Amino acid sequence: MKRIGAHVSTSGGVAKAPLNAAAIGAKAFALFTKNQRRWQAKPLTSEQINLFKQNCQKAGYTAEQILPHDSYLINLGHPEKEGLTKSRNAFLDEMQRCEQLELTMLNFHPGSHLKKISEDACLKRIAESINITLDQTAGVTAVIENTAGQGTNMGWRFEHLAAIIEQVEDKSRVGVCLDTCHSFTSGYDLRTPEKYDETLKLFDRIVGFHYLKGVHLNDAKPDLGARVDRHESIGKGTLGLEPFRFLMNDDRFDEIPMILETVDNAIWAQEIRLLYDLIKK
Ligand SMILES: [Zn+2]
Ligand SMILES: [Zn+2]
Repeated sequence: MKRIGAHVSTSGGVAKAPLNAAAIGAKAFALFTKNQRRWQAKPLTSEQINLFKQNCQKAGYTAEQILPHDSYLINLGHPEKEGLTKSRNAFLDEMQRCEQLELTMLNFHPGSHLKKISEDACLKRIAESINITLDQTAGVTAVIENTAGQGTNMGWRFEHLAAIIEQVEDKSRVGVCLDTCHSFTSGYDLRTPEKYDETLKLFDRIVGFHYLKGVHLNDAKPDLGARVDRHESIGKGTLGLEPFRFLMNDDRFDEIPMILETVDNAIWAQEIRLLYDLIKK
């Protein structure tokens, strides 16, 4: 079964997320466990934590269907000591929030070299950051997202993801989230059956499907290989509807959270229905 959901709002507290997801017919969801544009956050209260768990149970979501996303400020490959330490501390806090909420995955963008260190040195730092964090936590998998390769962001080539994983000590707690917009705008085509197969074969050979823990379902505004991160509603962008039809009929994507981060949250319920309708009867 496909688990289509969206990155829902936590306005009013984390416990709102499962309710917001259920209201749009989602079978999975993503959330921020703190304000994603700020470094500091108040700790979660035991009341918030209990209410979150209760609401997940009520709405029928288990941890495998929930893919929390970390703050956009964190750069686990930061070239400078101060920025790196700040990022690692914030990432640990994010992981611990997941532990408290009994969530089993944390999705994050790998990091950026800011033109101050080599790509290899940056990938090494990212892996080190993951190792340090996994050492201090339990039960939460670090899920690396592929990026559009905008600016000095790493993680846009499958080789980057593989290089990070290779240097992570506990391979049972590292995974990958594939974003369709990022894949396409970083240069991996998905628009024809042949290109779709080719891209996923490449992913399997270089990274391995067993590391796939989630998908971000986004159409794109930029063209193939533009290395610009701009999402579009499903079927309305440069990817079009076909890649989503291929995904919805590909059983390698069963039971993992597939999350909309598309631009118009007013039509998420509609987009979820549209995606389910793509499944061949
Ligand atoms: Zn994404
Ligand atoms: Zn994006």
